[in-house]
Amino acid sequence: MKELKEYKEMISKCSKCGNCQYYCPTFKVSRIEPFVARGRIELVSAALDGRIEEFSDLFMKRMNQCLLCGNCSQFCPPGVEAEKIITAMREECVAQKGVTGVLKNVKDSVAAVGNITGDAPANRMLWLENMAEPLKGLKVNEPAEYAYLAGCVPTLYPSSYSIPQAFVTILSNAGVSFTLLGAEEICCGYPLLMGGMREEAKIAALKNINKLKELGIKKVVTTCPSCYHMWKDYYPELVETDEPIEVVHASVLLQELTNKNELQFNEKKLVVTYHDPCDLGRKSGIFDAPREILTSIPGVELREMKFNRLSAMCCGGGGNLEMNDAELSSQVAQERIKQAINTGATILVTSCQQCKRTLQNAARQMRARIKIMELNEMVKENLRN
Ligand code: SF4
Ligand code: SF4
Repeated sequence: MKELKEYKEMISKCSKCGNCQYYCPTFKVSRIEPFVARGRIELVSAALDGRIEEFSDLFMKRMNQCLLCGNCSQFCPPGVEAEKIITAMREECVAQKGVTGVLKNVKDSVAAVGNITGDAPANRMLWLENMAEPLKGLKVNEPAEYAYLAGCVPTLYPSSYSIPQAFVTILSNAGVSFTLLGAEEICCGYPLLMGGMREEAKIAALKNINKLKELGIKKVVTTCPSCYHMWKDYYPELVETDEPIEVVHASVLLQELTNKNELQFNEKKLVVTYHDPCDLGRKSGIFDAPREILTSIPGVELREMKFNRLSAMCCGGGGNLEMNDAELSSQVAQERIKQAINTGATILVTSCQQCKRTLQNAARQMRARIKIMELNEMVKENLRN
């Protein structure tokens, strides 16, 4: 991650062609210039050359209304990476004005109790206590091949409990050696980093790495695409370590298990579509694993949305947008639901708890008859015992 001034040259490359309008989710739903890469970059440029001297609330709001999804960058002819420029601008805003709004609560909660909600750390285990069929012999803070990091949302939002519940059931059935960190799991720091709080994110990264070193664990598996992206792409630059920890996304581990015939499925006639989470697809290049798992379920027909893989539209939950502007986040999510409905699928599957939440809320608001499932839920539901 670079500082804002290091992006000056990249900013100067914006030719104002407007190509980004076609790909930017916030522009798609608003049709106004401050909601697209070109407009946002012009605002940053004005701040850099002194046309804007002090960051107003409106200026900071505009920076916080970007999803940091990177869709525009993929198709920008001169290769301007708006999401990186805007993240650096957010850091500059924090340096000048401090952390404000809901993000201040997130920062304080992570510092005090290690999670984004402010819940007592012991609440991290409620999803496990709430399993309909409790699993025996699960390890917590013990040596194992993998540490399963479930993340803040799946462990602390009851509507997402079913994701770690499904994943640990699948791993246990397949005989994978893993441990949970339970009450000692802490936020990976990604919401802090995307909110312009690099130092706070670094502290979270250091605590996480030290915790795994304590347990002698060298591999992490996570169901969360943002935790995955953070561990894989940002931890190495935030924390110097002589023994890097390998991180695997759950979908890749499930793909391996499927290929080894460790997972077998019942036949079910279903038409599904798949939503690529930005942090897993565009940012991490994992497009095939979830699709291969879905199509290995006999009877499942996968239909792609118009915007898929590299051009997949964000669910509306990226870049902390749900916290910063819930209405805009919902408008984006509703647009994505329309794209899913157009495929004729009855189930939209995704590999992310945040995508599931935002899309499910949008579908409910629209009274849309499409079911939203996370990949592990889909796998568990169709496993042959
Ligand atoms: S596509 Fe790239 S060069 Fe064109 S206006 Fe958008 S950011 Fe600027
Ligand atoms: S990163 Fe996403 S939301 Fe932000 S300007 Fe680019 S396409 Fe739009």
